[in-house]
Amino acid sequence: MCGISGIAGFKNIGIPLLDSIRHLEYRGYDSCGIAILGSHGIEVRKNIGSVDEVNERERLSEPDGKLGIAHTRWATHGGVTKENTHPHLSCKGDFALVHNGIISNYQELKKELTREGHKFHSETDTEVIVHLVEKYFKSSKDSVRQAHDAVEKAFIKAIKRLEGTYAVAMVTIYEKDKIFCAKKESPLVIGIGGDTNYIGSDFNAFIDYTKNAVVLDDDEYAVVSKDRYFIKNTANGETVRKKITEIHWDSDMAKKGGYPHYMLKEIYEQPQCVINALQVDKLLIKKISDMIIESKKTYLIGVGTTYYVSLIGEYQFSSVAGIFTPAISSDEFKNLAHIDKNTLVIALSQSGETYDTLNALKYAKNKGAKTAAIVNVMGSSIARLADYTILQGSGPEICVISTKAALSQMIILLMAAIEIAVRNKKLTVKNKTEIERHISHLPEIIQRVLNEKSGFIHTIAQKYSHINNWLYLGRGKYYPIALESSLKMKEVAYVHAEGMPAGFLKHGTIALIDENLYSIMFMPPKSDEDLYRLSSGSAEEIKARKGFIIGFHFGDKRESEKLFNEEIVLPKVPDIIAPFLELVVAQLFAYFTAVALKRNIDKPRSLAKSVTVA
Ligand code: GLU
Repeated sequence: MCGISGIAGFKNIGIPLLDSIRHLEYRGYDSCGIAILGSHGIEVRKNIGSVDEVNERERLSEPDGKLGIAHTRWATHGGVTKENTHPHLSCKGDFALVHNGIISNYQELKKELTREGHKFHSETDTEVIVHLVEKYFKSSKDSVRQAHDAVEKAFIKAIKRLEGTYAVAMVTIYEKDKIFCAKKESPLVIGIGGDTNYIGSDFNAFIDYTKNAVVLDDDEYAVVSKDRYFIKNTANGETVRKKITEIHWDSDMAKKGGYPHYMLKEIYEQPQCVINALQVDKLLIKKISDMIIESKKTYLIGVGTTYYVSLIGEYQFSSVAGIFTPAISSDEFKNLAHIDKNTLVIALSQSGETYDTLNALKYAKNKGAKTAAIVNVMGSSIARLADYTILQGSGPEICVISTKAALSQMIILLMAAIEIAVRNKKLTVKNKTEIERHISHLPEIIQRVLNEKSGFIHTIAQKYSHINNWLYLGRGKYYPIALESSLKMKEVAYVHAEGMPAGFLKHGTIALIDENLYSIMFMPPKSDEDLYRLSSGSAEEIKARKGFIIGFHFGDKRESEKLFNEEIVLPKVPDIIAPFLELVVAQLFAYFTAVALKRNIDKPRSLAKSVTVA
């Protein structure tokens, strides 16, 4: 995910172009750059850092020109360096291009182009596109090259060679008044402004200038000038007529995609995040599994939410793969862990900058441990420090409270557990395929739960928003889900919620139970027989003392009214994916409670996105 913008205007566009990427920065913020077509050709300015930092160093709006493109990057291929920052130039500097997405066949294209003499300056997948256009433009006959559509033809030839996902925008010295753009599975919109036209990854790129937009669909391309544009089908070249949409949002609403808060937007992005996590290269999963198998012991570390992710991992490795991989909260790591060269430490961090985890990882490394990391931010300190890093590809998480990044990490750990289980002969290849099939349905089931249940969750969250104390209870892998869910409630709603193993309740805490103490019981599906029986037993203990319970139930209809005061009915699903659905519901419950209590949802008091202090 990244931000693309472009402007074709009648006067200098430097300042609005800079503004457009400021508005897109929430989509990715590793580095940014611009390419402006001036009288001397294409001027590219780019560097690493936030838009304001880069602008301070590079003065992005300075070049004169009436046409240009810009980009804020969320790196997927190649580190966060100036060379890898977009725009990328062709060998002769006559084409400049920006891209959002992943070109999956870039290696073979790069080999082909290198063989033909093209010189590459970056490690990105993107750079192949601009060289492809250059190649096709050069190979066209002189007579054709003079034709008005020679660039367009070369552009389309190049686009047709791409596999993967892309939104691209390109400018060239051969067509000084045109922006060429195309899309497949990454968003791209055109802003129609009368005497100036715009392009953007979303409306934010130009919402301050025009509210009229045309949305490109997959496999379409467009050529945009200041007072004209056309859209064609990439496959057959036929012109596509599209209606102009009027945007009713202001720029802040647009950034949130129409959601009132980033937290809600990110909860709703989880189906896509799970898809991305499931698409993490199988070789990377295999490699981390090898590291676990080859080590005498493995610790999973994280802090706050990522500690709870580690705990889920501990349960998954134990139940699926039959190995014990203790989870330790990073801040307690030195007090607990025993490290030697046969130890592996796997660090989990969304930002890759979490101080406690970074510190624990450094400590482990110094003592000779092998290290690995699962992080969301490429080029972050933890990603650089660890011997081996998996990038989870969840896209920027803006809300201080983690939702989508945490779920993605759980899925990646689960895939590693499954890989190890096959090698440990805990699972046959056939079982593995079956389990993977179940997991592959998770995105659509989460989507369904979000669509069908959020109204009900909203209602009960409002109804019980006056409750000041909750117990969140679960057994087995539902216990870390209860812990993580209780943390959401504390963080965003400032409401006390205590997570605990349901079996632990009777050993003390049960003394608190009366009609004033409210509990949530994270029940497994009935098919998980032992766990279901034991969890029901814990609910009975609460019921017997007049405690109030909200409980989960998997099935077609309500069934456990006798046990629960409120029942959250979820679709019947295989055991392996059931905990994740409860997590998503609990995120919504915390969110709607916080809304009812008028909390500062995306920036709760006293919290920071990445805690970089001891
Ligand atoms: N794959 C490209 C890169 O790593 C584009 C990433 C993006 O969407 O920002 O540079």
